[in-house]
Amino acid sequence: MKITFHGAAQTVTGSQHLVEVEGHRILLDCGLYQGSRKESDRRNRNLPFDPASVDVLVLSHAHIDHSGNIPNLIKAGFKGDVVCTFATRDLCAAMLRDSGNIQERDVEYVNKKRLRRGEPPVEPIYTEEDAIHALGCFLAIGYERPYTLLPGVTLTFYDAGHMLGSAMVALDFADDEGRDRRLVFSGDVGRPDTPILRDPACLDAADVVIMESTYGGRTHPPIDESEKELEQAINETYRRGGKVIIPAFAVGRTQQLVYTLNKLFHAHDIPDMPIFVDSPLAVNVTNVFRLHPEAYDRETLDYMTKEDPDGDVFGFPRLRYVRQVEQSKELNFLREPAVIISASGMVEHGRILHHVKNNIEDPRSTILIVGWQAPDTLGRSLVEGASEVRIFGETYQRRAQVRVLNGFSGHADHDGLLNWVRAFQRRPEQIFLVHGELESAEALAAGLKDDLGYKPGQVRIPAMHQVFKV
Ligand SMILES: [Zn+2]
Repeated sequence: MKITFHGAAQTVTGSQHLVEVEGHRILLDCGLYQGSRKESDRRNRNLPFDPASVDVLVLSHAHIDHSGNIPNLIKAGFKGDVVCTFATRDLCAAMLRDSGNIQERDVEYVNKKRLRRGEPPVEPIYTEEDAIHALGCFLAIGYERPYTLLPGVTLTFYDAGHMLGSAMVALDFADDEGRDRRLVFSGDVGRPDTPILRDPACLDAADVVIMESTYGGRTHPPIDESEKELEQAINETYRRGGKVIIPAFAVGRTQQLVYTLNKLFHAHDIPDMPIFVDSPLAVNVTNVFRLHPEAYDRETLDYMTKEDPDGDVFGFPRLRYVRQVEQSKELNFLREPAVIISASGMVEHGRILHHVKNNIEDPRSTILIVGWQAPDTLGRSLVEGASEVRIFGETYQRRAQVRVLNGFSGHADHDGLLNWVRAFQRRPEQIFLVHGELESAEALAAGLKDDLGYKPGQVRIPAMHQVFKV
């Protein structure tokens, strides 16, 4: 078996691993690289292998850093199936279209500049139309339903507990001597007790593992602590007569917040106040969540079928979803206390910018940060306590409270990742650490050696495009 790491090597973005086995070429994930505009464009536009030579793509989950370059792969000549779970397929229907739309708008901006410099226009990496076409290549299978992927290769998905539909990928095949071998790709590993989702699956055996290392060396606070803080922040802001503004990713984090607020609302733990989800993508994605109760954990199913008076995890009387721009603008004139959840999650673009702009100078309001903020984003400067910020070219004084809740992460932390390896009854002989900055991958490698007794040669941190024969 040969594995080439074409992405998410010593970084957390652009997941893309090419596995060659039994004469077949299997691509694990085909994510977009997300970084500076120039670097992203170069990496995403030029695939580092011949797409037509790949037999099949196995997709671990719908996040854009794992799925986002699929339309480009297909445009460039890939003819095989994109195999994933049912929820991943349906999330991709919303997310890849949105991504195609972003690519088109991005290029419009670039082309305006190029035109001024007398340069010819460039084409988007792919369009919304390309994304829609790509959806025709998807093939969905359920969790723990072994499927003959290619002659001699069986694929089984296990729940990764990281986002709706997320999967760990197990490939079973026979090696040259006819021995049974198993390759496991962790995808992104979730955390136990994440709202809505089941806990990450424990697997019994693997020979080779490709695993994520995003939070190697770091520990998350417990989720229930953050739920308590969410409740407190809403109650305190309500008493001051302000608004709670929550920047959140439209996919996953928003639904997690809505479910938590649903329970708080029905338990009368938060005041009877309007709550808005202001993001067209979040509206579409929430509908996908509603379609996939097979992916919910026991607690969510029990709440939905036995306790929730509306029987809808993602709806309750004071909650309104906002799709139209006009309705979004009306929120600016709202005088009463309210909660507004909007995207983007790092306050870089989208409607959240308007809500932050309208509330940042109001000492009664709270800006609640519920996700990781990348360096050089407006979200990060709020976390770091900036006393003034620039939005749409204007400077604003920060008078609103800023609170940071770190417990909502969708990724396992250091101990969570070690526990996942520890749970194998027959531990993998070889582990490749991907999807983590070098520092995090090294911290996890050290943990595997110190706590689980791995030898240095058994744990590798591949470099970009590095090839391994195992
Ligand atoms: Zn992910």
